Amino acid sequence: MTGQIVDLSATRAAADAVVDVLVVGSGCGGATAARTLAQAGRDVLVLEEGGDFTGRQLTQRDGAMYDQLYMDRAGRSTSDLSISVMQGRVLGGGGVINTCDVVPIGDATLETWRRRFGLTDFTTEALAPHRARALRDLAATPIPEAALNANNRLLRQGTEALGWRGEVMLNNRLGCAGLGTCLIGCPANAKRNPRFVAIPQALEAGARFWTRARALRLEGASGELKTVELGVLDPRGHRVGEHLRVRARTVILAANAIESAALLIRSGLGNEHVGRHLSLQPQLPIVARFDHDVIAFRGIPQAYGVTEFEEPAHPEHGWWGFRIESISGTPGIVGTILPWLGEVGKERMRDYPRFASALQLFPDEPSGRVRVERSGRLRIDYTLGEELLGRARAAIKASARIYLAAGARDVVVVAPEPLLIRRESDLGAVDGLRFEPATMPWISAHQQGTVRFAPSQADGGADPAGQVYGTRGVYVFDSSGFPTSSSSHTMAPILTVSEHLSQRLLATLPS
Ligand SMILES: Cc1cc2nc3c(=O)[nH]c(=O)nc-3n(C[C@H](O)[C@H](O)[C@H](O)COP(=O)(O)OP(=O)(O)OC[C@H]3O[C@@H](n4cnc5c(N)ncnc54)[C@H](O)[C@@H]3O)c2cc1C
Ligand code: SF4
Repeated sequence: MTGQIVDLSATRAAADAVVDVLVVGSGCGGATAARTLAQAGRDVLVLEEGGDFTGRQLTQRDGAMYDQLYMDRAGRSTSDLSISVMQGRVLGGGGVINTCDVVPIGDATLETWRRRFGLTDFTTEALAPHRARALRDLAATPIPEAALNANNRLLRQGTEALGWRGEVMLNNRLGCAGLGTCLIGCPANAKRNPRFVAIPQALEAGARFWTRARALRLEGASGELKTVELGVLDPRGHRVGEHLRVRARTVILAANAIESAALLIRSGLGNEHVGRHLSLQPQLPIVARFDHDVIAFRGIPQAYGVTEFEEPAHPEHGWWGFRIESISGTPGIVGTILPWLGEVGKERMRDYPRFASALQLFPDEPSGRVRVERSGRLRIDYTLGEELLGRARAAIKASARIYLAAGARDVVVVAPEPLLIRRESDLGAVDGLRFEPATMPWISAHQQGTVRFAPSQADGGADPAGQVYGTRGVYVFDSSGFPTSSSSHTMAPILTVSEHLSQRLLATLPS
């Protein structure tokens, strides 16, 4: 039996459906679970609030694509407006709009999860086959030398000139045409993301996917049959219309760390840990201006990472330190990040072809919180702590040194009084940066935590099998369960953990 993708904004669904397994979210976590369970003969239905966008539907136009492919039309942020919280909202999830870097979960991280958080089942041996499967699904290969554009090469040149360590990353592209718009989807369908791997395999095994279907509430979480109320969205995904109900024996939440927790909170489910322990893994962009063309916006946006300052095996945190990775943005994004407005901003954007840019990425203590306000509005609270800001100052100095060593005219630190670094002696000004709320272009692309896995409900929101405490048969299979930042890039770790938990669930389900 072959499954189907049904767009509920165009086609009516059968009312009061009953299924074995209902999955919320079709990204790395959800698509993997759907495939594994459907291949084992389970009747699987996946709800996805985004639409299905492939090939030419991915138009490379900033406005339309951020509107259609991102959660809250890419306007989501922390409650103090300090960090833009970016998440995919499309069939296939964040993999459709990400930059394709593949970094598996490290053994030191797993060791931290066992030692500090009691996740004794998360051994290297237990996870190894699922980690290997994730890398196969992603067709993970090193980015070829010929595909390194000038933006990436300049970061490498400066790093090597200083004698620091760095690496060309693994990626999940096959047949990349170097169009450069990975962050708003790949019209060449070159990304081996869930839309082109786990979803077709799940469909072949009979799973059904409903798009423009937003899970609103979950009831009867301890009963034999749980009920999920869903809202059918309009074709643009902006408004909820008709409400439907689906009943399922098992419910798997894989709606991303923010939305899985929000759905539990809206449903009045879970213990006091649900919503807490949020890691946003903040990233801060930095721009360097050269006297020659860089053309960062053509070719693979993110291929080279500076690893000199990473600590893969910090005794308390597992992965720690900071990492610097080249990045390029479409004009809309770069224009909003730069510190100049109006005519001046327009004038400075003339230099866009001569910009090189990077993201400085910080593993963080999982200290944020997701709440749902009385009005139903989502609220994300997160404070950039002093310790992290200390690492941010060190990262800005390191990035500036790298770009100056590569021959940059100056390095721009976006702040209320933009900081221009032209020489080593300008670096002292970085110590004066105040990082006041909502003044710098912080982003988060790797949300984790919120329904932390823990062996006891005194310490987390779900057990080590992913089952939410206080429920029977409701699971979280995405990064919500991660007790710390899993890796500098979360796609491969989520594929790995979802496969691990799906196999574990299968072993416990009645045949
Ligand atoms: C801009 C960007 C760049 C990134 N770059 C990289 C990278 O290069 N490498 C890497 O490894 N990682 C990267 N990531 C992170 C990675 O893509 C994500 O961690 C990963 O895709 C998350 O997988 P997930 O299954 O947990 O959630 P998602 O992929 O976010 O999937 C969740 C899905 O659930 C849907 N959903 C949410 N709520 C509901 C609801 N109530 N009802 C129905 N559906 C719902 C959403 O629409 C979404 O499609 C990036 C992320 C972003 C945003
Ligand atoms: S750079 Fe490659 S993967 Fe990215 S959008 Fe272009 S063709 Fe697709």
